[in-house]
Amino acid sequence: MRKKLIAGNWKMNKTVSETEELLVNIKHLIHGDALQTVDVLVCPPFVSLYAAKNILGNSNIHLGAQNIHQEEEGAYTGEVSAKMLVNSGCSHVIVGHSERRQYFIETNELINLKLKKALEHGLVPVVCVGETLDQREKNVQIEIVNGQITKCLAGLDDEEIQKIVIAYEPVWAIGTGKTATPEQANEMHINIRNFISELFNNEISENIVLLYGGSLNDKNAEELLSMSDIDGGLIGGASLKAESFVKIINIAKNK
Ligand code: PEP
Repeated sequence: MRKKLIAGNWKMNKTVSETEELLVNIKHLIHGDALQTVDVLVCPPFVSLYAAKNILGNSNIHLGAQNIHQEEEGAYTGEVSAKMLVNSGCSHVIVGHSERRQYFIETNELINLKLKKALEHGLVPVVCVGETLDQREKNVQIEIVNGQITKCLAGLDDEEIQKIVIAYEPVWAIGTGKTATPEQANEMHINIRNFISELFNNEISENIVLLYGGSLNDKNAEELLSMSDIDGGLIGGASLKAESFVKIINIAKNK
């Protein structure tokens, strides 16, 4: 039985004080029992991580970063290492988000290095994959996503693969208000699960947590989270308001 995971990707939103305010509100609205059945993760910007951890305390809400550098440490001006993330209280890190692929030219090979560095430090990588609109219109989404998975997960052994989360995020659905239909999303999740079974084994594929991301909100969460192979969501816009984020968590709790 896979536990649902609801993750908020705040992107470049919220100052330190706004982060504190949002987390206080989320903590206030979440019922303790929800955290027993749903894993909850928030990913604020780097500068707010330490303050966020202080607010989250022992609340059982996990803290994650939105990016990581692939090297251990050194002369990489402006970058943030795995060790720094762990020391700031992070347990998770998003890697390979489509905005980083698009605006910062992150390749699957680079994402693979970042993912391995995260694992080396005990961080759970949330690896994002997904096709563009053009690729979906050409009906090559399965090849694209399987290609991303092959390269991003290259070299991982059976133990390591069990420590990662995969987020399927069709690029055309991110921040656009255009959601994949539950059937479209589930079809891709089933494909990913089958592909993980081919690459590793059936038991691993049955246990791996697969998130859907792309304009998921408190209105469409019910339908999406009811699908057989959707184990939760990576949520941008709707994670920036405590009410909508907690509503989604409560929906996931009943699935
Ligand atoms: C995301 O940032 O991963 C995302 C899915 O954003 P949104 O929910 O705003 O589409």
